[in-house]
Amino acid sequence: MSKLSYLILFIGVATVSGLRSYDGYKVYQIEPKNENEVNVLTEVQDSGIGEFWEDYFDVDHKVRIMVSGDKQGVFLGKMKDANIEVVETISDVEKAVRNQMRPAIARNASNSEPFYGLTWDRYHNLATINAWLDRLVAAYPNIVSRVVMGYSVENREIRGIRINYKPNRNNNTNYIGIIEGTLHSREWICPATVTWIIKEFLTSTDPAVRAMAEDLDWHIFPVVNPDGYEYTFNTHRMWRKNRSPENFKSCAPYGEPDDMSHGVDLNRNFDFAWLSVGASNNSCSITYAGPTAFSEPESRAIAQYVLNLNQQGRLIYYLAFHSYTQLIVIPYSNVRGHEVLQNRNYADMYEIAKRGADAVSRRFGTSYRVGVAADVLYPMSGSSFDWVKLVTDIPVSYLVELRDMGEYGFLLPPEQIIPNNLEIMDGIIEMDRTTRILGYYSAGVANVLSVVLLAFSGLVCLLF
Ligand SMILES: [Zn+2]
Repeated sequence: MSKLSYLILFIGVATVSGLRSYDGYKVYQIEPKNENEVNVLTEVQDSGIGEFWEDYFDVDHKVRIMVSGDKQGVFLGKMKDANIEVVETISDVEKAVRNQMRPAIARNASNSEPFYGLTWDRYHNLATINAWLDRLVAAYPNIVSRVVMGYSVENREIRGIRINYKPNRNNNTNYIGIIEGTLHSREWICPATVTWIIKEFLTSTDPAVRAMAEDLDWHIFPVVNPDGYEYTFNTHRMWRKNRSPENFKSCAPYGEPDDMSHGVDLNRNFDFAWLSVGASNNSCSITYAGPTAFSEPESRAIAQYVLNLNQQGRLIYYLAFHSYTQLIVIPYSNVRGHEVLQNRNYADMYEIAKRGADAVSRRFGTSYRVGVAADVLYPMSGSSFDWVKLVTDIPVSYLVELRDMGEYGFLLPPEQIIPNNLEIMDGIIEMDRTTRILGYYSAGVANVLSVVLLAFSGLVCLLF
């Protein structure tokens, strides 16, 4: 073997060994029954015994905790002492991580055909997704164009595509849809879903899909946190935040490695009730909101892009995909009870989401819940979809939490990508149907009906 080959081999091994190992790790699920049990969980988090997959603790609210082999004894001992019931949900995290890196075993031939080289039988890294976007731009020169929202902390492009079947629309009829994927980098099902929606918009022959694809000017971004996403592939599978080093501090007092302070939770960094609830001012936290609202280039890029589009037509959709827990979340995330009416068209948004959720469940029985974050998830601030709703008054802005309910959580096996995508497509098509019926497009059915009714009443007046 030549020296060069050894060097290449060494680099290859070094790269592979850069990926953090989860040998011996397990994931446990706990559903605290009272405030005392919630306090025990908070103590466990503060002591750094486990890595929490949820960032909010409440009575009757399930949380999953990933615990390394050497801390499982202490963890289970604490739970036993406090009489807290523990369910082991993932017995071998390393195996689940590796399982996610491989292609699906059972392939459904008709649905896993590559489309310009991309498949949905596995999860793809950033370079593969970006190369695919380039191929689409080349393949559909009159419909698809390349868009860059801005740049990440590590100077990566935040890339997307625009799908515009009718480039000559004027501002009044230019209905705009925006899809945001992967603001949280470990939620790998998100780019797999968003790329599928792109494929369906370009290829489906279903009239409802065609109408949704062609009646709007679409701006679709599979990965808006490119640094974090890349980091989940080459270093830390469970990374959620961006990769800002600006707020470095030692995380030892919180039982975390210092690297944890290298990042801001982008979905807490928008200027929506910033840092008021469900967010942390500690850079070692996974919900660190940043030193100020819009401190991060990724959140600023999204905001500026949305504001620019708001000048170019009528925003109809902002869909932000996350995982997991199967929810369609309605703005605003800092309200509950009667306060939901601070969202001017809450009732319509509930109706659209509920019909969407019903459509999702029809194919495989997957159940999605609908509501404001404080009711179905936990109250939060600084989130993108709330900010977009508040600032632009866009009629339909949701945060969608995809599969599953926590069985695999972020480590959803590749076999579930296509079933997830099929049911989500059913859901958004039904949402679009409802949005039209409710009259949010001027060409919507409600408006057509009202024109017919007006014409009919005019005729009646003439006759009598
Ligand atoms: Zn998320």
